[in-house]
Amino acid sequence: MNTEFLIKDAKNFVNQNVTVRGWVFNKRSSGSIIFLQIRDGSGFIQTTVSKKDVPAEVFGQAHEITDESSIVLTGTIKAEPRSPYGFEIQAKDLKIISLAQAEFPIAAKEHGIDFLLSWRHLWLRSPRQWAILRIRSRMMNAINDFLQKEGYLRIDSPILTPSACEGTTTLFPVPYLPAWPDGDNQTVPSWLNPDQTKPYAFLSQSGQLYLEAAIAAHRKVYDFGPTFRAEKSKTKRHLTEFWMMDAEAAFMDFEELLGFEEKMICHLIQDVLDNCRAELQVLERDVKPLEKIQPPFLRLTYEETLKKLKELGSDIQDGEDLGNDDETTLMTHFEKPLFITRFPSAFKAFYFKRDKEKENLTLSNDLLASEGYGEIVGGGQREDDYEILLKRFREAGLNENDYGWYLDLRKYGSVPHSGFGLGLERLLAWICKLEHIREAIPFPRTIYRFTP
Ligand code: ATP
Ligand code: MG
Repeated sequence: MNTEFLIKDAKNFVNQNVTVRGWVFNKRSSGSIIFLQIRDGSGFIQTTVSKKDVPAEVFGQAHEITDESSIVLTGTIKAEPRSPYGFEIQAKDLKIISLAQAEFPIAAKEHGIDFLLSWRHLWLRSPRQWAILRIRSRMMNAINDFLQKEGYLRIDSPILTPSACEGTTTLFPVPYLPAWPDGDNQTVPSWLNPDQTKPYAFLSQSGQLYLEAAIAAHRKVYDFGPTFRAEKSKTKRHLTEFWMMDAEAAFMDFEELLGFEEKMICHLIQDVLDNCRAELQVLERDVKPLEKIQPPFLRLTYEETLKKLKELGSDIQDGEDLGNDDETTLMTHFEKPLFITRFPSAFKAFYFKRDKEKENLTLSNDLLASEGYGEIVGGGQREDDYEILLKRFREAGLNENDYGWYLDLRKYGSVPHSGFGLGLERLLAWICKLEHIREAIPFPRTIYRFTP
């Protein structure tokens, strides 16, 4: 008996006896044969329980089994060209570990999305969700591996932060130490604003500013963690809690930054094509468009993009930021990812370095994914001059006292530097060709729900 057997390794065990521990996700019966579809976390396989081959009590157990019951089953692996899995198990013995209640709430019928989201804790078991979360895990590793090989050090940015790094409208405030004594100035620390007796923090909306501090110690750094934005937009692209990878590099200029983003995205797509074929197949993902993701990506400035959009029928006005619909229009038109560069300063954060030739333009970029997906990366070169940065703070109406530490970075050995943020779920929605970003994270949080 081989108790360590996993379904994914079936090909190595043909004509051998194995023991599978897993769940029955479907049962069919044709009198003297019962077909059990089984999964064990590593894969899926069909088992036949034949009345003539097993003791009566084992056949009785198979008969009693309900969908989603957990079982331990012993049998022989057979090659089975007619099966979508290529193999099947001929059962010899079977025990029910836990008989599932009939009926499983999300049995294989068509269900509305709200219903499925309410049952997310069980929905995770379906093959599509299984495939998506496996690709998610693969991509998290691939991102880490890629950056480490490129000489980036992982730095963990804080999740509780004292102030916003881009505007305050999308922040989640949390009481910081809720038991703080009311109005007792003796206990209020010196770093707190004097008018604030009850301190509160904000959940991080980006780790970038902290990474900028770390580059002077480690040169190239990244973080990867949960990010929070109280987005009121009801789009298919926004979660309130998502995972972002921020990377920041000293001595990297804007042109080098674009090249690096391109290299990373191409690497990730290749990694998924090389390692997640089975999962992409479960998702019925046409891989041809992904195979076309090769450098160089297209590049348009914001101004050129506006011209292109107007040609494509958008009613976008000069000086306006692109909406989701504009991104969809562009990315249905272009086959490859697109860099949009040099956005006007009016809709980019204060820390972007400005274009030498055109002061009102920033050295910023968005990277838009093909097949209609839109922005997956936002990046740019950062302002490294103390006086200019101070001026930008004031123009943006920010309190420079809140950012004293960030300004310090420009006083002590400032260097040209650039960085970018990649949204993991946006990347996955594109790779898996999902209708909505909410399937790209195990337990999605959106403006509409944060349960289960
Ligand atoms: P958008 O304009 O689409 O709201 P953004 O400009 O606010 O995006 P950035 O601040 O540049 O985005 O964040 C970097 C990356 O984080 C984005 O390119 C995207 O991949 C991801 N991201 C941003 N907001 C969200 C969100 N609410 N849900 C999921 N991913 C997000
Ligand atoms: Mg946003």
